[in-house]
Amino acid sequence: MGQALEDEIADTQAAQALGIIATNIDMAQQDEGPICQDTGMPTFVVHTPVGVNQLHVKRAIREAVAEATRRGKLRPNSVDSLTGKNSGDNLGEETPVMHFEQWEEDEIEVKLILKGGGCENKNIQYSLPCELDHLGRADRSLEGVRRCILHAVWQAQGQGCAPGAVGVCIGSDRAHGYVLAKDQLFRTLDDVNPVSELAKLESEVMEEANRIGVGAMGFGGKVSLIGCKICAANRLPASFFVSVAYDCWAFRRLGVRLDASSGAITRWLYRDPNRAVERMARMEGFPLTGREVVLTAPLSEESVRALKVGDVVLISGEVYTGRDAVHAYLMKNPPPVDLHGAVLYHCGPVMLKQGDGWSVKAAGPTTSSREEPYQATVIEKYGVRAVIGKGGMGAKTLAALQKSGAVYLNGIGGAAQFYARTVDKVLGVHLLEFGIPEGMWHLHVNNFAAIVTMDANGNSLHADVEKETGAKLTELQQV
Ligand code: SF4
Repeated sequence: MGQALEDEIADTQAAQALGIIATNIDMAQQDEGPICQDTGMPTFVVHTPVGVNQLHVKRAIREAVAEATRRGKLRPNSVDSLTGKNSGDNLGEETPVMHFEQWEEDEIEVKLILKGGGCENKNIQYSLPCELDHLGRADRSLEGVRRCILHAVWQAQGQGCAPGAVGVCIGSDRAHGYVLAKDQLFRTLDDVNPVSELAKLESEVMEEANRIGVGAMGFGGKVSLIGCKICAANRLPASFFVSVAYDCWAFRRLGVRLDASSGAITRWLYRDPNRAVERMARMEGFPLTGREVVLTAPLSEESVRALKVGDVVLISGEVYTGRDAVHAYLMKNPPPVDLHGAVLYHCGPVMLKQGDGWSVKAAGPTTSSREEPYQATVIEKYGVRAVIGKGGMGAKTLAALQKSGAVYLNGIGGAAQFYARTVDKVLGVHLLEFGIPEGMWHLHVNNFAAIVTMDANGNSLHADVEKETGAKLTELQQV
């Protein structure tokens, strides 16, 4: 991410987004808080020598996950798929995810990846041969694989919190292909693939994907991909899958080597305890230009209609969070509060109960496209004036913004610490029966920075970037 900051063109929206991300990384490090509010599906890969009791290791992992959740390091993310109930401690049927392997070494190795829903939803699998938008046919060849990976980066746009990294598996079956693709995300970004054809493909993709122009958060820009790691596995003669695991800029991995008899940590993976912590941000806080539009919620129609795509806004006042469960609820029930003029924030925060009140541990925006089937109705029916989220929304919402005089504001995905510090008070919570991330939190914010990416005049930066980057993909296909 340090490299991404250096490579991006200064004073662009993408550079501003990277600046916020850098500040957020520093804040998370200082507070030992979650770098992003979506702490993902905890996925452990464990290697044990023969004779180690894996049940014992499983128990220890479950206890550690529950404790990390209690301490506000992990957001409660484990939801019963039949009842919709959040278990509250990240434990549940098949969560956390654990993969065990035996190996010949003497030590135990435990690796953990935390990959949030925004980027997990942008994983994609191709069955070759297939036709790809802007890239034509992908055949059963390395050229076909190259096209699939470029397409995977393109289709993620800002929804997976670009710049991201991709782990890729060529071959295998549908299920194992995804496991192997995710496994590639455990490689360090600067390693070199021992298979020369794959090493060549990795570097080609890095170079080309960073020419497409998706940019940080899909704002358009020079840096779209920070890593590409590819493996190949045998396949059935009739199948040729390319499985792509897309990980966001937060790219959270950690690992330890343990003495198999004492359990003591002998070595950390992905971090060097002897290396001093380096500050990521070049300046304090959000780089203000003086051109920002200052808004106080609730918002008037006039102030919102005056906004245009590209404006940076600083919002102060009252904001309500609402994501999947709240939107589904609002389709059938009136809101528990008056939403006229309101700012609705697509956010599932990490909150900790402290005495009678709550404190915000992490509160960045979540992927808005999930609310596309509901958003237009919620805006038109209840008078919402601004929606904050990330990754943009579709044509139905854009039409509703125009009709009702509302805007879509793109926050910086994953900047959970940065945005948590804009909350000066938790005023209350509604619909908490949906669980902490899904409840409707009533927050008072101060100078919440976001960029207008869909305005009330029918303009959408997301639609523009998608079109422009699609044209770049076509150019790459013709090379
Ligand atoms: S940075 Fe974005 S994609 Fe990654 S976990 Fe956070 S919200 Fe999800």
